[in-house]
Amino acid sequence: MIVRMRNPDATVEVAGPMRVGDLLDHLDIAPHTVLVIDGGALVVADHVLAADAEVEIRPVISGGAGGLTCIACGRPPVLEEPRHRAAWCASHVVDHVHNQIRKAIDHAHGTDHNERMFGYADRVIVAVSGGKDSLALWDALLSMGYRVDGLYVGLGIGGYSVRSQGACEAFADARGVRLHVVDLADTYGYTTPSGAVATGRSTCGVCGLSKRYAFNRVAIDEGYDVLLTGHNLDDEAATLHGNLVRWHDDFLARQGPVLPGRGGLQARKCKPLYRLSERETAAYCVVRGIDYVVEECPLVAGNSGHEHKAALDLIEAGSPGAKAQLLFGFLDRQSRVAPQVGSDDRAADLGACAHCGLATVSEVCAFCRQQERIRAALPLLDAEVPA
Ligand code: SF4
Ligand SMILES: [Zn+2]
Ligand SMILES: [Zn+2]
Repeated sequence: MIVRMRNPDATVEVAGPMRVGDLLDHLDIAPHTVLVIDGGALVVADHVLAADAEVEIRPVISGGAGGLTCIACGRPPVLEEPRHRAAWCASHVVDHVHNQIRKAIDHAHGTDHNERMFGYADRVIVAVSGGKDSLALWDALLSMGYRVDGLYVGLGIGGYSVRSQGACEAFADARGVRLHVVDLADTYGYTTPSGAVATGRSTCGVCGLSKRYAFNRVAIDEGYDVLLTGHNLDDEAATLHGNLVRWHDDFLARQGPVLPGRGGLQARKCKPLYRLSERETAAYCVVRGIDYVVEECPLVAGNSGHEHKAALDLIEAGSPGAKAQLLFGFLDRQSRVAPQVGSDDRAADLGACAHCGLATVSEVCAFCRQQERIRAALPLLDAEVPA
């Protein structure tokens, strides 16, 4: 069906037939903020829209997109989100974020109807950086009653790493929860900057591979059922945009909010924030009094994902909801446009690394190969520096 949304105007195609209530839920629109018009007639939540219906969704809250009052209680709002055509007061920002995380956990795109990201009996670990997203996620899941420990990987990026670790430790101490800390220098003999110099690779390249490895290593060794990361809607849409622009078929096939685990080789990985923008997670932290590290990594200029974020921000500003439509629309169609997901092809290729025993498609995993190159080069580099 064709769905035309008004103020701001946007047209989307949605597979039907579908109940009006389900359509609004699918589009993240609060039912009492709009009228739904099917072929010129007003319809209610139980009305079933035909597959070829032409539907208009018309906002009824005056004061423009976002409204002037909290959509749940009518009090003055602290956050408005044009994408949802809604605004919330402080306590309903918290409810809104929890609801979106609940929806992600229980009904993630690309999963079966009955499959949850994780349950209350599972042992869950969340990778935290000290920034707003991962700490918001940890806080939200603890508030929702899940058993969640944290994992911080020290990257050796000067004062930024020191302050980030401090924020994670203060968060864990204040709540009496467990935080694992892995320091790259202590455990693997290099930092992100020295590893980049030794290999000639970009710092973000070395950093990303090291973090992914350390996350998986701890999750597997400590027997966690699922490993979570704080990737949000902006991150996921930017990654998708980058993969589409370059047509990275393999990455497109593997992008998703739930990545299955492989025995003792690779932990199950999930992204419960993929429905929330960074503005929403930042607002959540402010409202909940979470003291996160606001400064960005000083090496962020080398991260190509930022160009894609900036490009999508421009589109979103003129067309609220575009990022969500890009990401959710792709995930809805992923099995058609990138059919490897869910197939066993990749699983069959995965084996244990000859050095470390974790997942790899070659004999030795990319992390162990990187570490070998760093080990060979670092003493030579150290020797060049006069004592
Ligand atoms: S910006 Fe790059 S170097 Fe800094 S934390 Fe992110 S991936 Fe690592
Ligand atoms: Zn409210
Ligand atoms: Zn290895």
